Order: sequence, then C-alpha cells, then structure tokens
Amino acid sequence: MSTDARATADRERRVIAEVPKKLLIGGRARDAFDGKTFEVEDPSTGEILCEVADASPDDGMAALDAAAKAQPDWAATAPRERGEILRRAFEMITEQADDIAMLMTLEMGKPLAESKAEITYAAEFFRWFSEEAVRISGEWKVNATGSGRVLVMRQPIGPCLLITPWNFPLAMGTRKIGPAIAAGCTMVIKPASLTPLTILKLADILGEAGLPEGVLNVVTTKSTGKVMGPLITDGRIRKLSFTGSTEVGQKLIEQSAQQVLKTSMELGGNAPFVVCADADVDAAVEGAMLAKMRNIGEACTAANRFYVHVDVAEEFTEKLVDRMSSMTLGRGVDEGVEVGPLVEADQRDKVAELVDDAVQKGAKIRTGGEIPSGAGYFYPPTVLADVPTSARLVKEEIFGPVAPIFTFTEDEEAIRAANDTEFGLVSYLYTRDLQRAIRLSEKLEAGMVGLNQGMVSNAGAPFGGVKQSGLGREGGDVGIDEYLEVKYVAMNV
Ligand code: NAP
Repeated sequence: MSTDARATADRERRVIAEVPKKLLIGGRARDAFDGKTFEVEDPSTGEILCEVADASPDDGMAALDAAAKAQPDWAATAPRERGEILRRAFEMITEQADDIAMLMTLEMGKPLAESKAEITYAAEFFRWFSEEAVRISGEWKVNATGSGRVLVMRQPIGPCLLITPWNFPLAMGTRKIGPAIAAGCTMVIKPASLTPLTILKLADILGEAGLPEGVLNVVTTKSTGKVMGPLITDGRIRKLSFTGSTEVGQKLIEQSAQQVLKTSMELGGNAPFVVCADADVDAAVEGAMLAKMRNIGEACTAANRFYVHVDVAEEFTEKLVDRMSSMTLGRGVDEGVEVGPLVEADQRDKVAELVDDAVQKGAKIRTGGEIPSGAGYFYPPTVLADVPTSARLVKEEIFGPVAPIFTFTEDEEAIRAANDTEFGLVSYLYTRDLQRAIRLSEKLEAGMVGLNQGMVSNAGAPFGGVKQSGLGREGGDVGIDEYLEVKYVAMNV
C-alpha cells in the first residue's frame, strides 16, 4: 500500500470512528433498550463500515416522549436564539465539510466532489432558515364591517416526525430540521437505514451548536415500520415530513389519516428532459449531464426520459454518448472518480432490469449497459436510443445512470409525452425561444421546471412536486409554513 493510500485508509477509519453510533434521545446518546445493532455497508466494496443502534418500538416511543417534553420550552425560546443555533451549525458544517463528505461518500457511494456539493446545499438550508426564524409574522385586520378585529398568529405546530431517504443523506435532513428548529418545533428524525451515519454526525454538530436536549432526537432502526407506525398514530406527533418513494409515502398518508396529521410528502419523480429544435445543443448536453448524472442518477430530480426534437436528436445523442462514455467509475473516495457505485445490490439490479427490458423491446445501447465485474454495486453511464414507449422505464423511476432518448417533431407531442406519468416533480426544458419557453413551462405538469438549466435545487426556492410526487414544499419563503399552525383571534372591538 502506498503512503497516500495508507493515509486515505486512516482517514476513512477516523471519520467512521468519530461518529456517535447510538440513538440520541433527550440529549443522551444511548444504546437501543435491547442492545441490538445493525450494520452499515460501503457500497463501493460491500464491506461493513460499522454498526449502529437498532431502535425498537420502545426506543421510538422514548424519543417521542423526549420531543414532547422539550416542546413547550423550545416553542418559548427566542426566535433569534433558534436562528443563531442554526447559523452556528451552518458554520460548523462548512468547516467540517471535508470529513462529512468522506463520511457521506463511504456510506452512500457518491464521489467526494458530489458529497461536498451536497454539503454546501444542505448547509444552505440552515443559513436560510436561521434568517427565517426571526421573520415569522402574523396579521392584523379591521373587519369589513368596521367593528371587530382579526389577529392572525403563526405558532409552532408541535413535535414533528421526520423521515429521510439515503440518496441525499444530509440535505434531506437539513431541509426538514432547519425549518423545524426555526419554527420552534421539536422532532424525532429517522434517517434511512442504509445511510444513518451522516445524520448522526449532524446531530452531534447541532448539540455542539447549542441545540437544547430533546429538541432533536435521532432514531436509527431496521424495524422501520414497527418503530414509526406507533409514532405516526400517537396524537402527540403533529407533523410528518417524509422524503422517499411514492409507495411508502402513500402508506404513511394512510397511517396519518388516523390523527389527521399534517404531512409533507417529497416523493418519487420521473422527470422529462425536453430539447426543442431551437435549443443550444451543447448547453442541453451540459444540462443533461447534470440532470442525469448528479448523484449517479439516484435523485428524485434525475432526468428519466429525454425527448429530443428529431432535427437535433442525433447531434444531442452523439455528444451525450461522448460525455457519458468518458466518465471514470470507481470508489467515490478515490481521486478523479466521477461515478460511484449505486447504493445497494437491489438498486443496481433494478437499473439493470429496466435496461434489459428496454433492450428486449427494441432499444439500442449507445454506451454502457453492462454490469462491470468486481466488488461494489457499480453500473456504467448508459445511453439508450430508439426506446419504445412500451419500455418499463418510461413509467418507472430509473434511479441510476441511464439516459433513454425518444424523439418528437411537434412541441405538443413532447408535452403530451412529458406529462404522461403519474409523477410531477420536475421537468427540464431547453429552447432559445422565450415565448416557447413560457408557453411550454406553463403546460408542463410539474412542481418545478429547469429552464435551460439541469438543476433546480436551491434552498431559497420552494422545492416540491405535484400529482404523485408529493404534497407541500420545502425551502424558500414557504418552507417554514409547513411547521407552523395558523391561529386567529376574533376580537370584539
Ligand atoms: P423509501 O424506501 O421510501 O425510504 C425512505 C425512508 O422511509 C427511509 O428512511 C425508510 O427507512 C423509510 N421507510 C420505509 N418504509 C417505511 C415505513 N413503512 N414506515 C415509515 N418509514 C418507512 O425511499 P428510498 O429508497 O430511501 O429513497 C428513494 C426515493 O426517494 C425515490 O423514489 C426518490 O425519488 C425519493 N426522493 C424524493 C425526493 C423529493 O424531494 N421529492 C428527494 C429524495 C428522494 P429504511 O431505510 O429503514 O427502509
């Protein structure tokens, strides 16, 4: 082993060793009541990184007890103080970005540069909501009759349950924790069991930043449904914010109905990427690389279906193939790697299955399409042309580095195809014609449109979907509203 390789291996061990591996309940890091743990794996090697506490339903309930107990004092804490805790945590995340990136790459697989980009994005939610904490306002109105007054106030909704996925282990957490802290809510957070370490590290940082005991409680578990179910149906939880698959989101909405729980649902996507005849093709390819390859294609915002005008389809395809085929696959922690492994074997196999299905139905592989040999759950950047509309990947979220290309001749045809899905998170549109840009943006059924750009994520903008992509918005001016309840006082004046 070279000196450099030994230094990297030592650093990997150190960042893993430094993460608390226990549940965080009422400010105390502790083992699960029954002492159980589960393993966390490095998807680039299949090796075990460490074990973390595996919460039981009793542990989950203890976390809720702690959140409920801390709620009144936290709601009464000065907004400035809440904001400053977030601001300090923002600074600390930024200072520790290199180590957090290493940790995230080890448990999730994405290249270090991408982990760092996620950390910048994730930290930004804390900076944004540190500023929002002191801007929670109300309303004062004179009744239309002239007598009587209306006072509208916005108050913390109460203890929240936050459930996050593995694909953006930090940002999906800060996007919920940031507004909850700013609004004065306490919480129980359950990170994905594939990637619990980044949230455990974040909880440690928030503690050091001065977050009082019991405001944030972390429950890691493999018995997810059994531990979460009783919390969702316990009347003390007043808000459920979930990011994950539509399938699980639907189950949680059903469970939430029991307590008429307010929910935010950031669910699956099936983003179309439309390239019009008048588009700047080089810019479209650049945007396509971002929309497709960010996070190895494991993003709810990932472009899933490319609709390219016939006049520019071959040029776009050739240029995309050129870029995709020259990407370097490898362990995300290694220098120069652009494509890490997918998060687990099942995920990789699902991607391969969708590609095989498309090929069997007539699609042509222009690059990629074969699982490489060796350890880790790698899948190569893949471009498919001549994809028939009967291919499963037209309807199903791919969640991997696969770009299927379809062609169209009329704008209306592209919009019809783009909207022909039960999802509606984001759509991408490339055109140089302003009128066409506005007309088509209005017609795309999506919560967000990337107009001549391949990324929409932005802490200062309302992120979220329509149709089965979800309910509610995270970030932007409205992000904090998800954690506030409106109350009005009718006054006889
Ligand atoms: P997932 O399987 O739905 O899991 C998401 C989270 O839900 C995990 O923490 C998971 O825990 C938990 N969970 C699973 N079953 C549950 C149950 N019965 N009760 C309570 N919690 C449960 O999704 P994923 O595979 O992690 O994430 C990928 C999906 O997330 C994709 O569909 C992607 O599009 C979507 N996503 C959406 C957004 C957005 O903003 N719209 C952002 C990122 C990702 P375990 O890990 O323990 O199973």
